[in-house]
Amino acid sequence: MTIGIASPPSPVNEPVRAYAPGSPERASLRRELDRQADMQVEVPLRIGGRSVTTGRLGTMRMPHDHRHALGTFHKAGPEEVAAAIEAAEAARPAWAALSWEDRAAVFLRAAELLAGRFRDRLNAATMLVQSKTAHQAEIDAACELVDFFRFNVHYYRSILEQQPACAPGMWNRLEYRPLDGFVFAVSPFNFTSIAGNLPTAPALCGNTVVWKPASTAVLSAHYIMDLLDEAGLPPGVINFVPGSGAEVGDPVLADPRLGGVHFTGSTEVFQGIWRTVGVNIGAYRQYPRLVGETGGKDFVFAHPSADPVAVGVALVRGAFEYQGQKCSAASRAYLPESLFPAVREYLADTIPQLGIGDVRDFKNFLGAVIDDRSYAKHTAAIAEAHEKVGGDVVEILGGEASDEVGYFVGPTVIVTKNPSYRTMCEELFGPILTVYVYPDDAFDQTLALCDRTSPYGLTGAIFARDRGAVAKATRALRHAAGNFYINDKPTGAVVGQQPFGGSRASGTNDKAGSALNLLRWLSPRTIKETFDPPRNFRYPYMEEV
Ligand code: NAD
Repeated sequence: MTIGIASPPSPVNEPVRAYAPGSPERASLRRELDRQADMQVEVPLRIGGRSVTTGRLGTMRMPHDHRHALGTFHKAGPEEVAAAIEAAEAARPAWAALSWEDRAAVFLRAAELLAGRFRDRLNAATMLVQSKTAHQAEIDAACELVDFFRFNVHYYRSILEQQPACAPGMWNRLEYRPLDGFVFAVSPFNFTSIAGNLPTAPALCGNTVVWKPASTAVLSAHYIMDLLDEAGLPPGVINFVPGSGAEVGDPVLADPRLGGVHFTGSTEVFQGIWRTVGVNIGAYRQYPRLVGETGGKDFVFAHPSADPVAVGVALVRGAFEYQGQKCSAASRAYLPESLFPAVREYLADTIPQLGIGDVRDFKNFLGAVIDDRSYAKHTAAIAEAHEKVGGDVVEILGGEASDEVGYFVGPTVIVTKNPSYRTMCEELFGPILTVYVYPDDAFDQTLALCDRTSPYGLTGAIFARDRGAVAKATRALRHAAGNFYINDKPTGAVVGQQPFGGSRASGTNDKAGSALNLLRWLSPRTIKETFDPPRNFRYPYMEEV
């Protein structure tokens, strides 16, 4: 161990590459896309640094060309889950005993590798298996994950510096221990960066991890494991167990050594995990930390003083980028009557211009939704809305869909006169935006409506030129969003700039990519040392007068 109080490099956000025609990064990404599309990858589990195969296989497909398989992955069963827990427990003492600088260096090195020679690999896999455009892959798989690695080190160091006061004659210290058990990381399909952050944030803090990725994003997760291997992460620190949610989750949650759960995904699954932990609570060695970032029904709210074009652009980008499959995606909008015609015109003109198709065609704005189940859910919601035209539904813009080649659902706007219409309240997680038009003089009442319409509290935006309206909305919607935007779309949070997370049914709001999140993976020990301990039990007040 080196002796010194080290300062890691100051973090900066990874610059976003443009992939413009003729650029070297575009040519290099295209070569990698071709290479990966021509390959068949067989993804093993990784337990204690070993590759493990089970023969129980899932298939990895391109959502935008679902007949094209990219390979297979092995699924974990009870035996492998047990082995992964044992491997995490076996690796724990040595990993926790490493200096914080040694642990941090692994992730700083991972950041450099991802910014450099792993960039195309992670971006191409994210494009092919999760159907992201080049830009959406770049801001996620490359930039955001690099940012998580760099900024987490910075925040971790700043936590270690927080130390208590000392009265004369003593030294008080806080030792930031990792948890007294392994962490279960469970990641969603929609962000490669989140998949990378969920196991690595606890690991940076000295914890060891069992990581279950989403079955529709195993390929990019597999390359994250390659990246971490190359960065020098010791065997057993992160154990990779793809497989069915319940088959992996149930035995992990039943283990008495569970120290915490780092989850991102749907509200329903997180609530199931919470319930299971509750039922098992007497059996654990400690109270497991439960951190979950879950669903959203994110809103854009416009005041009559708003710029209609700015609102239109925010709706198009906020609702339709990555096919609306961002937890932060705008999926409901409240527009005043006076502004609605201009915004409607912008949406009606723009929707036909939004190319949809294979993400390897860089002209496309949207790819496919993730799988057949998702496609069925969205097309059913659009069909239902068509049936309601003339009743709850005023009109539908866009809304074309086809699953012949890929699971393509076109950008869709449902205009409703019922502010409690199903798609105003429920998360669909697709490119479907529902708009409610309110009377201009009902701004205050509509703010109250927005606040109570859905159980979620993740992201939201107010658009207004009138400062009084901005202030009023910011107050009225205080608990309606954990990430609140003024004159900006509700997506695109950047690590180090807009710490991300929401409350209510949207999660525990532990703000991924911030010190608040890292604190959940630490269990501080207070150490008080008295330099010259008392040698007489009597206090002065006890003396005779
Ligand atoms: P999901 O809930 O279907 O799956 C998430 C993960 O949980 C997957 O790895 C899945 O296999 C696993 N899982 C399922 N059942 C399980 C069980 N019984 N035990 C343990 N694990 C289990 O979510 P998804 O479809 O992958 O992602 C979309 C959802 O994620 C949306 O609701 C979206 O809003 C949410 N999300 C939220 C945030 C946020 O920061 N708030 C970010 C991204 C995604």
